[in-house]
Amino acid sequence: MLRSAGRDAPTKPREEKDSTRRWVVPLSDVLVDGEMERAVAEVVRSGWWSMGPRVAEFERSFGELCDVKHSFAVANGTAALHLALLAIGCGPGDEVLVPSLTFVAAANSIAHTGATPVFCDVIGPHDLTVDPADLEAAVGPNTRAILVMHYGGHACHMDEILELATRHGLPVIEDAAHAPGGEFRGRACGTLGAVGCFSFFSNKNLPMGEGGMVVTQDDELAKRIGLFRSHGMTTLTWDRHRGHASGYDVVLRGFNYRLDELRAALGIVELERLPERNRARGQIVERYRTALDGVAGISMPFATRPEVLAAHHLAVIVLPEGRTRQEVEPAIIARGVQTSVHYPPIHRFSAYSDPSQRSLPVTDLVADRLLTLPLFPHITDAQVSAVIEAVLASV
Ligand SMILES: *Cc1c(COP(=O)(O)O)cnc(C)c1O
Repeated sequence: MLRSAGRDAPTKPREEKDSTRRWVVPLSDVLVDGEMERAVAEVVRSGWWSMGPRVAEFERSFGELCDVKHSFAVANGTAALHLALLAIGCGPGDEVLVPSLTFVAAANSIAHTGATPVFCDVIGPHDLTVDPADLEAAVGPNTRAILVMHYGGHACHMDEILELATRHGLPVIEDAAHAPGGEFRGRACGTLGAVGCFSFFSNKNLPMGEGGMVVTQDDELAKRIGLFRSHGMTTLTWDRHRGHASGYDVVLRGFNYRLDELRAALGIVELERLPERNRARGQIVERYRTALDGVAGISMPFATRPEVLAAHHLAVIVLPEGRTRQEVEPAIIARGVQTSVHYPPIHRFSAYSDPSQRSLPVTDLVADRLLTLPLFPHITDAQVSAVIEAVLASV
């Protein structure tokens, strides 16, 4: 159950936070309060720090949020992706379709199963999720799965994606690292395909340092995910500690991708605040949209779609045609506003460059014009104004 204890004011004066001091507006930021400190201190005092009751509670609460049958907390979002791919049986000789415009963790996880990532294009400057038509064009005899990413917390075009996946008999893995609390047609992002993967890295919507979650409705996949998470062992240390089990067998060659109790305790507190914080993010994005979309050639992707409840992980703008991030960014940074890019396309990295790869005209068209603006739930009105002024003065 989620706890309903009242909230304390932040206990640390802002000046103590060295990590963000140099920016007038950092790209993202976390709030620290007494409830979080107490939750972690309680775990420290308990003397049980590895996966145990708090991880189980975090999984249960996250599963309730998503209305999904199985949830597995893991060490990070990359581990979540790797587990999802292993669970569906992905391996050497297989191809996995994946957008190039995503975090490299997706391609690395595919490669580490022995499979090959096949990069696909996005829809357009107005919608940076993967293009279902290009997925369809990329399906071949060796295609084993489709890995989609809900960019910025905006659900992909799942009707078309699930239809083509079903038609070709391919499982869909959702990289929902940006989308905890996001929905498509009233269902949680991450629960639409075969397996959903989340990240709880510090700059994500549900921050806890490092952490992740794998969710699925499928009992067989769940069994494999649970085994791969902990060495393929049939019992857990916690079960043996409680006297519920003594020996174990190893039924597949797994990993240690477990989450620990300290981070689970943080996650339980953060989860309680997620819906309200996602709403706050949405309001900030609307301020950016009103001030910047269609102004001076700037556009802001992801206008509202009625079937999508966005988690608003990112505030991304597309710079005017002919302008590049490289030209514009220094002037914004000079005003103390931290910016970023989501993402340098994976197909341009040396580890993935391949002369025979598919052409990705839309990704190549927008990649150098993408700019991510600061976004966190407690950003002040003055900070939002400073960002808007910095962008308008710099384009
Ligand atoms: C953050 C992120 C990941 C990886 O998660 P980690 O927890 O950092 O391992 C994967 N995919 C996307 C889209 C992400 O944003």
